[in-house]
Amino acid sequence: MRTYDVVIVGGGPAGISTALHLHALDPALAERTLVLEREHYPREKYCAGGIGGRAKKALARIGVTVDVPAVPVSAVAMRTQGTTLRVSEPDFGQVVRRIEFDHALARTATARGITVREGAAVREVVATADGVRIVLSDGEVVLARVVVGADGVGGVVRRCLGLPGGRLRAQVIECDTEIVASDLARDTLLFDWSDRTLHGYGWDFPTLVKGEPRMCRGVYVIRTMGPDNVKERLRAYLGARGLRIEDYTLKPFGERGFDSADPISKPRALLVGEAAGIDIATGEGIAQAIDYGELAARRLSRAFRSGDFTFADWKRNVLTSRFGRSLFARLVMYRAYYPNRPRTEQILVDNPAFLQLFAQDFAGNRLRTRTLLRAAAATSPRDVPWLAELVRDTARGRGEAPREA
Ligand SMILES: Cc1cc2nc3c(=O)[nH]c(=O)nc-3n(C[C@H](O)[C@H](O)[C@H](O)COP(=O)(O)OP(=O)(O)OC[C@H]3O[C@@H](n4cnc5c(N)ncnc54)[C@H](O)[C@@H]3O)c2cc1C
Repeated sequence: MRTYDVVIVGGGPAGISTALHLHALDPALAERTLVLEREHYPREKYCAGGIGGRAKKALARIGVTVDVPAVPVSAVAMRTQGTTLRVSEPDFGQVVRRIEFDHALARTATARGITVREGAAVREVVATADGVRIVLSDGEVVLARVVVGADGVGGVVRRCLGLPGGRLRAQVIECDTEIVASDLARDTLLFDWSDRTLHGYGWDFPTLVKGEPRMCRGVYVIRTMGPDNVKERLRAYLGARGLRIEDYTLKPFGERGFDSADPISKPRALLVGEAAGIDIATGEGIAQAIDYGELAARRLSRAFRSGDFTFADWKRNVLTSRFGRSLFARLVMYRAYYPNRPRTEQILVDNPAFLQLFAQDFAGNRLRTRTLLRAAAATSPRDVPWLAELVRDTARGRGEAPREA
């Protein structure tokens, strides 16, 4: 029975990014690393495939380019109450098909000498003081000094380690349809917040299906705020565009938001990507998964140098990183938005600086001082005390799901 230094459970963007960044930072440790992926590539992952430019930049820093068919996008639009606000941003992002993107990423890892075992479903994970015992579905046992849970929203690692399932959950459903006359230009990601009874939004992302231009449309519902019927929501969303839900293959799936209240590590174990939690406000998770991988590789390398495998500081590492600050800001945004939705939407629509900041963050560009000042100027002094309170509560991991006023 071979003992690995690091076993990464899950070969999606978070797991493969962790392995690739380990390889770049600490090649000797990467040689003693194993990635276990339940499926065989190319494997499907239900996802709209909108990737912020910052993922491309993070991968480029370690010399990785993911060469797959993609629709380049240069703008984001927010629609609410009859108004569509659109802002563009350099290097904004692209839309890919996950079946191709994840396969290409895994191929790059393999080409760099990282061992990725496909068809290896993990059934059980037991962490002890000395190491981790990982049991596969066929009974095979793999030993590791550290395990990384990169196994997504329903991950077995989180469950086996007894970490709570997370309060921030979303339900998502999507399909690929033809393009219709009311669609925006194909360089734009549309987030449609028009329906105020929906705790979330609908989207239209330009995509390519087998090389053909199509539109990926879906509905993102924050389940934490109450039960809903996502299929009926999608029916209405498509109906407003003159499309019938019966004509399309529906792809439903869950998402987990990052919650500053939840633990995301245990001695000898780290969670990354959607296993740890991604952006609850929009459900964006691919770039976050890649960022988690970069940070985890640094943390793992440090752990093996120091011999300290407690990982008690992993959540703090995440929260103080650039992408962690963005996750935190979006968590605050989610908690601020819903209780004051009509007013917040008015402020957002009247002041493009807020959407521009989102676009800069998505693209991985520096938040420009001028935009920050414009957003600050648009914030009413009477909002400052409760916003400050909200930030403090969120930082302390307090606060229930927001209630609408
Ligand atoms: C409908 C929908 C649309 C979305 N659209 C977008 C979007 O446009 N842009 C965006 O940024 N994000 C989007 N997301 C979120 C995004 O898909 C995820 O956040 C992202 O895939 C997280 O990456 P990950 O590597 O953490 O997890 P995953 O991509 O889920 O990868 C986990 C991997 O672990 C493997 N695995 C699971 N269990 C085991 C096991 N027991 N043993 C071994 N392997 C295992 C799985 O097979 C999988 O390959 C969307 C999500 C949904 C549901």
